[in-house]
Amino acid sequence: METIHRSTLRLLPISLSALCLTRPTAPESKRIRLPISIPGILNPKPAFLTSRKSYSSAPSPVAKAGWFLGLGEKKNKSLSLPDIVKAGDPVLHEPARDVELGDIGSERIQKIIDDMVKVMRKAPGVGLAAPQIGLPLRIIVLEDTKEYISYAPKDEIKVQQRRPFDLLVIINPKLQKKSNRTAVFFEGCLSVDGFRAVVERYLDVEVSGFDRSGQPIKINASGWQARILQHECDHLEGTIYVDKMLPRTFRTVENLDLPLAEGCPKLGSC
Ligand SMILES: [Zn+2]
Repeated sequence: METIHRSTLRLLPISLSALCLTRPTAPESKRIRLPISIPGILNPKPAFLTSRKSYSSAPSPVAKAGWFLGLGEKKNKSLSLPDIVKAGDPVLHEPARDVELGDIGSERIQKIIDDMVKVMRKAPGVGLAAPQIGLPLRIIVLEDTKEYISYAPKDEIKVQQRRPFDLLVIINPKLQKKSNRTAVFFEGCLSVDGFRAVVERYLDVEVSGFDRSGQPIKINASGWQARILQHECDHLEGTIYVDKMLPRTFRTVENLDLPLAEGCPKLGSC
């Protein structure tokens, strides 16, 4: 889920604001605004299937080509992170599968988790699900930092009930609502670059699952963290926010501040 507020662009130091733009090469005059809540921006390279980093034991066609060209696959792997998969790729629209508990400690799963955290932070975003790096596995990572939050207007932070929390890695998460309270706010997604829409979400949820060492965990979350958890858990069901959005609120990031169409609900708690 994308996270940084649109005003961040005006506040960030140049290096970071460049990082937060949709593309590093975008001219400053374009004034691209940043995502609000759920992660995502910028992957300079299109996430074509063939460019995905492969986690299978069989070498990918790209890796093979690299080998023939004399490029070491090992070197390649250490330098590259997986691309963020974009909407339309089937992996984002189909349910993911559970991770076998006995596999959680494996080198492969630990590497996937490390890569997910790096991809999320590089984007930057406040959450990422494994299908977003092309893997149909039930793994999510999320964090929200004081720094990210500091870029958002104080009144917005308050109404969104947005508070920092440390990195969470949740394997095979199961989410349930803990109350019927809901709120409507704009969301974005790293897999749907450049757009936002209003989504109604529960304000109080509980998520149980396993941490990266295979220990059972349970998280009670409210406000913005609950929203991030719902957004990321939805990814594991093959659901992206556009499947749940209020369609008439859909817009480009550049138009985020423009008034909502008549009949749309007012942003905030319901
Ligand atoms: Zn997303």
